[in-house]
Amino acid sequence: MTTTPPSAEWATRRTYAIISHPDAGKTTLTENLLFAAGSIRLAGQVRARGENRRTRSDWMKIEQDRGISVSASVMTYEHRGLTFNLLDTPGHEDFSEDTYRTLTAADSAIMVLDAARGVEPRTLKLVEVCRLRDIPILTFINKLDREALAPEELLDDIQDKLALDTAPMQWPAASGQRFGGVMDLKRDAFIPFRPDAGELSSGRPVPASEMAGLLSDDVHGELVEGIDMARELCPAYNQQSYEEGHMTPVYFGSALRRFGVVELLDALAEVAPGPQVEKAVVRKAEAEIAPGDKQVSGFVFKVQANMDPNHRDRVAFVRLASGRFKRGMKLKTDKGKSLTVSSPIMFFAQDREIADEAFAGDVIGIPNHGLLRVGDSLSEAGDILFAGIPNFAPEILRRARLADPLKAKHLKKALESLAEEGVTQLFRPVIGGDFIVGAVGQLQIEVMAERVAAEYGIDVTFEAAPYETARWISGSDADIEKFADRHKSAIAEDIDGDPVFLAKSAWEVSYSEEKWPDLKFLRAKERN
Ligand code: GDP
Repeated sequence: MTTTPPSAEWATRRTYAIISHPDAGKTTLTENLLFAAGSIRLAGQVRARGENRRTRSDWMKIEQDRGISVSASVMTYEHRGLTFNLLDTPGHEDFSEDTYRTLTAADSAIMVLDAARGVEPRTLKLVEVCRLRDIPILTFINKLDREALAPEELLDDIQDKLALDTAPMQWPAASGQRFGGVMDLKRDAFIPFRPDAGELSSGRPVPASEMAGLLSDDVHGELVEGIDMARELCPAYNQQSYEEGHMTPVYFGSALRRFGVVELLDALAEVAPGPQVEKAVVRKAEAEIAPGDKQVSGFVFKVQANMDPNHRDRVAFVRLASGRFKRGMKLKTDKGKSLTVSSPIMFFAQDREIADEAFAGDVIGIPNHGLLRVGDSLSEAGDILFAGIPNFAPEILRRARLADPLKAKHLKKALESLAEEGVTQLFRPVIGGDFIVGAVGQLQIEVMAERVAAEYGIDVTFEAAPYETARWISGSDADIEKFADRHKSAIAEDIDGDPVFLAKSAWEVSYSEEKWPDLKFLRAKERN
């Protein structure tokens, strides 16, 4: 019997996330990407297959007993001989640090823009997070079946707001009612839009010389002009520049009409990078962990807790960084705690036989009772510490006010525990006894308030705090001390005891940056 060497397995993984502003079409695109890949059986449904029966029962037991819904966290499909892991980033109201952290587990991202709106505020923030690790971004401009901004305006918008070079890979023929299809600039072929064609409205590509016959004169004229402009004025696509996060290749389509979706799948297969070398610390020395390394390692990027107060179970989502993971394996955290991973939740592509193994780029869910925290590293020897999952500067800060001051110790424990889980962040101002909690999204605050009440039985209100944001202060100890001395009422410690500046406004942050050039006021803090 021959087994595939692990190097071959990890190299076929493409792990990515979709980023967008609400309503741009992320959900619709996700569904249709999976449909186009022939894998509408999502992770949750894949388990109905006979050969995966054991896994199915494991999973269902976890979901039923513990009330945790994990099905949609990772969606796996195969396309062109590659295994794609699409990581779900929670959208809409449940926007939180989870969304940001998920990006730390992805090797690339698809940015979806609404063609009528261009770059919107949340897109901007998510791209900022991609930048922390220079994650390559591929752009899909959606809703071409509706009236859209001119393609050149959209490209300018990306360039201006996101400082990304744009390389149009396609050029659309008008939009809305007049939308005729897109020109594939590289292959010089025209893909006609056939709105009545049923499942996929991307028609068979025709040579550019034949497109005139498929379009009205005015649409054809506009398209020819646009193509000329794109070829003359836009930079050519450069794979290295994309991989380094400087350039984004741009595609156009309609997720709802399933136009351009197969082309997007193909594009991703063509350009998206697989697992990369990760920076880590091994026994106090800086090291690089390569996806083909023998030792199994990974890091926790998300922890999903049970909302049922009678169960304290959690599922830790671990992105594997190296090695061949096998069910039943013993792993150690960077803090030396060991656990036997007997019932990991694994995410499968359809028809994959080796359900008991996973490789770099894959995600496994590990049920545990609170042992694993967001940011933890895991490895066989317990000697690897990954550079870390960052905490992000909170945009909502609330002061915890107790009904019964005697419960302060109790509250401290509850808030610390939730901060360790990554639900919210916790800050202790150096003056006064208040607790300040921070989050990047409102839902985080609501989840926290609910859990403090339900799980810990503490009567507490979270009232507005006079701060707009928190920044981690970095610099020499002497400089930090001097700054802290001058701003006593605005200094706090985070859960690790690191100094934080609680700023009343963004202006106050820039002002401090100017006045204290030797200090840095960080928007993200790496946890390790
Ligand atoms: P999300 O918030 O980014 O996940 O966006 P959704 O996928 O939920 O889409 C938001 C709305 O836009 C829904 O009403 C979709 O039907 C609609 N939508 C998504 N893609 C398209 C498209 O290509 N064309 C049109 N006309 N509507 C779309």
